[in-house]
Amino acid sequence: MAIFKSLSTDDAKESAGKELPVENVRVLILGSGPAGYTAAIYAARANLKPVLYEGIQPGGQLTTTTEIENFPGYPEGITGTEMMEDLKKQAMRFGTDVRFGIATSTDLSKQPYRVVIDDEKVIETDALIIATGATAKYLGLESEEKFKGMGVSACATCDGFFYRGKDVAVVGGGDTACEEATYLAGLCNKVYMIVRKPFLRASKAMQDRVFNTPNITVMFEHVTKEIVGDQSGVNGVILTNTKTGEDVKIDISGFFLAIGHHPNSDIFKPWIETDEVGYIKTIPGSTKTNLPGVFACGDVQDPHYRQAITAAGSGCMAAIDAERYLGERNF
Ligand code: NDP
Repeated sequence: MAIFKSLSTDDAKESAGKELPVENVRVLILGSGPAGYTAAIYAARANLKPVLYEGIQPGGQLTTTTEIENFPGYPEGITGTEMMEDLKKQAMRFGTDVRFGIATSTDLSKQPYRVVIDDEKVIETDALIIATGATAKYLGLESEEKFKGMGVSACATCDGFFYRGKDVAVVGGGDTACEEATYLAGLCNKVYMIVRKPFLRASKAMQDRVFNTPNITVMFEHVTKEIVGDQSGVNGVILTNTKTGEDVKIDISGFFLAIGHHPNSDIFKPWIETDEVGYIKTIPGSTKTNLPGVFACGDVQDPHYRQAITAAGSGCMAAIDAERYLGERNF
């Protein structure tokens, strides 16, 4: 599910041009994952009175995971939902105005920047922090939806630990899939890589790592037909061999998607530079985009790490970058 509604460029411009009620703010933050809330905590404590819109999925991707055990400061672990509730409370404690609403289009052609919320009102802002995240791609199977958080995951680093000593499967043949498969191979008994083509798309170095890891079995030319399980979670997957048409069932406890992510940057694309996949480009060592006063943090600008802690770190950077920007211009 996309966190922010995607509009075509023409839609975005048209909607942004409508006569809608306008509100002026100093700092607008879009997104309510660890990046957005951390930016809000820092911006609010700097007295910038940030307004934050949560988007379609309040709390972001972490609310779709189970336990988070790798965020420093939680020795016993914490659920994604609890952590996001805590971050929200912390942001509100310092005065962040947290609102439910979806950014439906933008006009960043001039300052103040204009962001349309729910096609109903315009927020004009001196500084914009984009923390809209990325959405992991799923296969679209009903059984996949049914077992999300009960054996189906899109993040091996987040959830792999729960499958120690067990057999798991990873879908995909790119660098992410290879990276996740080798990571899981260090924890699990056996890892099956399910690859729809007769070859891997990943870089040679990543392929070598996969082929040199004895407990990874690559199943080329196989696609997922159905994930099976019971009330305690996933216990197998049925695959179809695309060459022979035959089905095969393998017993697994965890099913990991690694078929790519979609950065939620569509509504900014007319104005903000992205890479070919859609990740927002930032000036290295900062959260600055190609537009002055527009900053990007978290997964929408990070194809590499995609962790809650790195997103939170870049959210902090975005708030500091915004504060300095506003201070230098006496906004
Ligand atoms: P990619 O788009 O590179 O790969 C996606 C993989 O998933 C492909 O093998 C693709 O198959 C497969 N796939 C897509 N849709 C389906 C589907 N419906 N069913 C089955 N398989 C499917 O995504 P990644 O996330 O791997 O990588 C994104 C970018 O990030 C790349 O540029 C990559 O190089 C980079 N990256 C770099 C890393 C590093 O340098 N350490 C680590 C991770 C990512 P097919 O090939 O058939 O299209």
